[in-house]
Amino acid sequence: MNRNEALFARAQRVIPGGVNSPVRAFRAVGGTPRFIVRGRGSRIWDADGREYLDYVGSWGPLVLGHADPDVVAAVHRTAECGLSFGAPTELEAEMAELLVRLIPGLDLVRLVSSGTEATMSALRLARGFTGRSRILKFEGCYHGHADSLLVKAGSGALTLGLPDSAGVPPETAAQTLVLSYNDTAQLDAMFGEFGSSIACAIVEPVAGNMNLVAPRAGFLQRLRELCTRHGALLIFDEVMTGFRVALGGAQALYGVQADLVTLGKVIGGGMPVGAFGGRREIMEKIAPLGPVYQAGTLSGNPVAVAAGLATLKKVQATGFYDSLAATTRSLCEGLTGAARKHGIPFSAQAIGGMFGMYFREEPPSTYAEVMHCDKQAFNRFFHAVLERGIYFAPSAYEAGFASAAHSMADVAATIAAADDAFGSL
Ligand code: PMP
Repeated sequence: MNRNEALFARAQRVIPGGVNSPVRAFRAVGGTPRFIVRGRGSRIWDADGREYLDYVGSWGPLVLGHADPDVVAAVHRTAECGLSFGAPTELEAEMAELLVRLIPGLDLVRLVSSGTEATMSALRLARGFTGRSRILKFEGCYHGHADSLLVKAGSGALTLGLPDSAGVPPETAAQTLVLSYNDTAQLDAMFGEFGSSIACAIVEPVAGNMNLVAPRAGFLQRLRELCTRHGALLIFDEVMTGFRVALGGAQALYGVQADLVTLGKVIGGGMPVGAFGGRREIMEKIAPLGPVYQAGTLSGNPVAVAAGLATLKKVQATGFYDSLAATTRSLCEGLTGAARKHGIPFSAQAIGGMFGMYFREEPPSTYAEVMHCDKQAFNRFFHAVLERGIYFAPSAYEAGFASAAHSMADVAATIAAADDAFGSL
C-alpha cells in the first residue's frame, strides 16, 4: 500500500468517504485520490512524492497558481496581527471598494465565506425584495448546496448520479423551476406561465459544473429581457466565472447586466471568501439596513480577505486575461490536435482561463449533449494522463482551470502527455 492509499484508508475511517467534498473521492473515475502535500505555481506534489501539472487549481480559485509569493506574504502579514475579530476591519472596505469598481452593476456588496453562502443569501434577498417565492434555475447548473438550489444540479451531484439530494423537502424543491440551459423557447414558455410568481432566475453565465457549456448567442440577453419584463431579479452566479473569464466576469464578457451577482473562488485567492452584491435598492434590504437576515461569524475574515486582495491586485495587470486566455486556448487546441492524430472523437474549448474537454466531435451546448459524451473514454484518459503527471478534474462533468503560472512549456508538456495517453487508449 502506498502512502496515498494508506491516507485514504485512514481518512475513510473517520470522514464520510474519506473526503470533505464528494468529487475529491475519485468515485466517478475510480482509483485512489491523491493526497496533496504541497503546491507551487502550476504544480502539485502528492503524498508519494509524485509531481503533477495541475488543472484543477483548487476548483478555480488559484488564478495565479499555487502559493503565489505575494498572496502568501499577505496572509503571513495579516495573520501576525490576529486571525479574526468579529468586528469590522479596513481590509473589508478595501475589498468591497475593489469589487464595486471592477464588477459591473455592483453598488453594494456583502462578504461571506463560501460560494454556497453567497448564492443562498442572494436567493433569500431576491425573495425578500420581490415578495415572491418561485425561483428559476437551469439543469446542470450548480449553485452550491442550499436546499432550493440542489435541484437538478451539476458538479458532485451530477458526478455521483444524484441530481437531486435526499433531505431536500419536496415543498422546498417545488418552488424551484428547472429549465434546459440554452433553451430560449422554454424560457419564454416558463415566464409566460409563471412570470408573476418568479422571484429570480439564477444562472451560471458560463456553465462550469456540467463540464463547460458556453451560453448560446442571445440566451443570456433573452433571460435578461424576460426577468425585466416580469419583475423577476436576474442573478448571475459568477462564483466560478468571476475574475476567471475576464476582469469584469461574464457580465463584461457578454455585455449582460444582472441585478445580483454572486462571487467566490478567485476573490479569496484560495482562502474562504464569497460575496454577493448588486443594485443599491436591492442590497439595502439586507440586515442591518433592511428585513432580510444574513450574517456570519467569520464573514470578511481578515486573513482570507488579504489573500483575495493580493490576488485581485495582480489580475488587474495589463494583459493578464489576454495572456491567461491565450494559454488556455493553446492547451485546448493542442489537446484537440493530439486526439485527432489518434482518431479519437474529442473536442475542447476555452473561455478565458477555464476550459472544457469533451469526448465527442463538437463542444456540447445542452445538458443532454453533455450526457452523450463518452464518459468511459474520459475516465480512461484521466488515468492515462494522471500516470503521466497531469492532474485534470476527476470527473467528466467539471470544467478545467489554467493559471497565470502555467507556462507555454507546461502546456506543451501537457499536450505531449495527452498525445501519449490518447495513443494508449
Ligand atoms: N456557484 C458556482 C457556479 C460554483 O461553481 C460553486 C462551487 N463549485 C458554488 C456556487 C459553490 O461554492 P462553494 O463550493 O464555495 O460553496
